[in-house]
Amino acid sequence: MKRSLARQFTKILGRENFSLDPCDLRTYSYDASGLSFMPEAVALPTDLEQVVRVMKLANSAGIPVYPRGAGTGTTGGALAEIPGLVLCLSRMNRILSVNTANLTVEAEPGAITGSIQAHVEKSGLLYPPDPASLGFCTIGGNVATGAGGARAVKYGVTRDYVMSLQIVLPGGKVVETGTRTAKGVVGYNLARLMVGSEGTLGVITRVLLRLVPAPKAVGTLLAFFPGPSEACKGLVSLFTRGVLPRCVELLDRLSLECVKDSLPVSMPRGTRAMLLAEVDGSLPAVREETQEMASVFQAAGASGLHVAESPEQAARFWKARRSLSPAIRRLGYPDKVSEDICVPRDALPEMMRRLEDAGRRFDITILSFGHAGDGNLHVNLLTDLGQPELKRHCHEAVDWIMEQTLSLGGTVSGEHGTGITKRPYLSMELGADAIGLMKGIKGVFDPRGILNPGKL
Ligand SMILES: Cc1cc2nc3c(=O)[nH]c(=O)nc-3n(C[C@H](O)[C@H](O)[C@H](O)COP(=O)(O)OP(=O)(O)OC[C@H]3O[C@@H](n4cnc5c(N)ncnc54)[C@H](O)[C@@H]3O)c2cc1C
Repeated sequence: MKRSLARQFTKILGRENFSLDPCDLRTYSYDASGLSFMPEAVALPTDLEQVVRVMKLANSAGIPVYPRGAGTGTTGGALAEIPGLVLCLSRMNRILSVNTANLTVEAEPGAITGSIQAHVEKSGLLYPPDPASLGFCTIGGNVATGAGGARAVKYGVTRDYVMSLQIVLPGGKVVETGTRTAKGVVGYNLARLMVGSEGTLGVITRVLLRLVPAPKAVGTLLAFFPGPSEACKGLVSLFTRGVLPRCVELLDRLSLECVKDSLPVSMPRGTRAMLLAEVDGSLPAVREETQEMASVFQAAGASGLHVAESPEQAARFWKARRSLSPAIRRLGYPDKVSEDICVPRDALPEMMRRLEDAGRRFDITILSFGHAGDGNLHVNLLTDLGQPELKRHCHEAVDWIMEQTLSLGGTVSGEHGTGITKRPYLSMELGADAIGLMKGIKGVFDPRGILNPGKL
């Protein structure tokens, strides 16, 4: 970056909020995708005014800007693929207000999702979206990626809770989008358009979210199955029997291998899949539905069932599930290529069958787990990309898996977004007309193309 430009950014942000230090640049060159691109500079604004002035200057200088939250994204969405300025919102992290009459919470974009949840729980309220990364991802990042989570089965995802957003456009214009009311149909829904826009349209600087009353009781059930197809059939039966769980998580045999030591109960011999399911509501309803879930799972072939007897035990079940992503490394494969496919729920048994087929067909180890209640699977291909033959097998397997997903009416990303890593599959899913419209929208928001260029 030219010295004169760096001096102007420093003037806007102060020395403590702007860095050219190679150590800082290295830190902000990563996210959870495993990719790395060195930015030219890092800005850490502390208020709206600084964001506005940074965006104005960057736009007039034509320098690329990469909005960033906590960098937990798994697709490289926050990375400076073309050298430019990382604009990290983590210092704008205040929870501004909770309104118990309107059931809303308002926060700055850098607020950690789990902190917002803990904060509103004190008022007997629930912010339902719960990405597994909630202890360290930001609400701005959640909105920008349209993050999901386990409880989406009953409650939906981030987009279902965004009421209004304040955004800063590349030229520095501040726009209020959406409404502060429960209803509102005036004009195009720009707040909704921002959800999942992955930092390509505007910088989110304030978020107003809808809340719901916290449920009185939660029932948590662990069920072990002889195979993933029995587990998937069990979960599909729940819905056909009229039970609406708040979440159903699936772990396949290899996933269980990774977390078996953190599971607080023992697994029956021959277990090859596990479901972790929850219902919530009033205490009598929860008791009844937990029983019903257990009998549905038993009928589908479950070989072991455990109902959590206390919130602490339920938390231990969840701890095992949440420890999975990092635990996969323990299997000792040098590389993990993670996909985030989603199919209609009733296509899940067939998708699991095709994934097993993919493992055999391309001679590659595949580990699948995820928010199966939504048909959303995190498919991990474990390999050594340093070996050309294995790399080729892996790429062929991913292409095949994406084709199978789309042929079952699915999508190539259920919640992680496109970023860099899913870009090759975008045109497999979207037609030329839809892509043309999207490019038109991008041009209206960001005519000079400085925001997260090349992404999506
Ligand atoms: C262990 C682990 C578990 C995970 N579990 C889940 C899960 O269950 N569900 C799920 O959906 N995801 C999950 N993720 C992925 C990730 O946590 C989410 O995508 C999250 O929403 C990213 O938030 P972030 O603050 O880290 O954003 P970043 O990674 O910093 O950025 C992500 C994208 O958002 C944009 N962005 C960030 N902040 C802003 C802003 N203020 N304005 C405009 N654009 C912005 C960036 O440009 C980028 O495109 C997981 C990741 C990990 C590492």
